[in-house]
Amino acid sequence: MKNIFAINKYHVFLLSFVVFATCSCSELSSRNSSLLTQKSDVNYDTVSIAIVGDLMCHSQQFNGAKKDTTYDFNPTFAPVKKYLETADFTFGNLETVTAGAALNYTGYPMFNTPVQYLDALKEAGFDVLTTANNHSLDRGFTGIEKTISELDQRGILHTGTARSLADRNTSLILSKNKTKLGVLAYTYGTNGIKIPEGKGFCVNVIDTVQIKNDIEKSKKSGADVVLVFVHWGNEYQRYANDFQKMLANYIHKNGALLVFGSHPHVLQPTSSTSNFTSGFTIFSLGNFVSAQRKQFTDCGIIVKMKLVKNLATGVVSINKANYIPTYVSTQNGFRILSVSDAVESFKNKNVNDLSFTSSSIEQARIKEVWNETTTHMTNTTIGFTGLEN
Ligand SMILES: [Zn+2]
Repeated sequence: MKNIFAINKYHVFLLSFVVFATCSCSELSSRNSSLLTQKSDVNYDTVSIAIVGDLMCHSQQFNGAKKDTTYDFNPTFAPVKKYLETADFTFGNLETVTAGAALNYTGYPMFNTPVQYLDALKEAGFDVLTTANNHSLDRGFTGIEKTISELDQRGILHTGTARSLADRNTSLILSKNKTKLGVLAYTYGTNGIKIPEGKGFCVNVIDTVQIKNDIEKSKKSGADVVLVFVHWGNEYQRYANDFQKMLANYIHKNGALLVFGSHPHVLQPTSSTSNFTSGFTIFSLGNFVSAQRKQFTDCGIIVKMKLVKNLATGVVSINKANYIPTYVSTQNGFRILSVSDAVESFKNKNVNDLSFTSSSIEQARIKEVWNETTTHMTNTTIGFTGLEN
């Protein structure tokens, strides 16, 4: 169990009243007096976050996970669980729905995944899944409803799709100690599947006015810092297009410190000025897991960040941002490996290590992935570098 206190989005509204009613005046006055007496003694609050890209589930993945009458996806995440569960909050993009067996399990091009996939994500340490992407409507509005209900049952927080307008308009706020993170998610579209009549609330489509309003609302609901997840860009392009760059700037200018992109299925570099002063964007986090095997689609990253809140000013800044390069092995089923763990295990012939692969083709590719990823993603200006473990 992580040492966190996550407020369910449905309770935020109610809680904010309680907090305001019970402690606003006394807390403010005591904070002011402590500032006067201890000017140099500033207190900080730290929150660690881990972020990955697309969580795909192609038919090869669920066929491989089949066990008699059920499915077991845990082995896919087991080698990297230690990096996911140790963060205060871990995020990923759920690029499928869990609409149930009656609507048939399928992979590309219209996904529907056994619900055991969510069990494995929970077990691996995911706290928040974004659900706004081009596959949100792969089983229509029913798929959205069913997926949300399965996520809720497992205590996995989510944002990007909604069952009602009221839910859509309730900000997702995460709390740890005295820091609150607002989380928003949007997609460029839904693969041409029309949003059902009268249900415009069910998936967040990129709309600059809406994004601006949502950031404001998130802050009014208590968020000290806002993270915006955007599903955008051109598939298989290793660099952001002009629209992505423009939208990232717009989001930062309107008050969100962090922008995390997904959808291209390959990594796209970061954008930031020194010290992250104007915000930090990762244009594409690539595939975290999928059955795609072409160069650049078989690998991804786990972003590890530390956010620090100055309790005197209330300002949250990025203290540290790094990444762990990952690779999807298909030897012995689908397994996400840390590239450096895998290299170490096959160098030492440690066959029992969860990151070991005996395939010489995979070993050669994994060595290549380290160079490929670090050359593409490292941003020395801000110290964004590949971690070896
Ligand atoms: Zn996508």
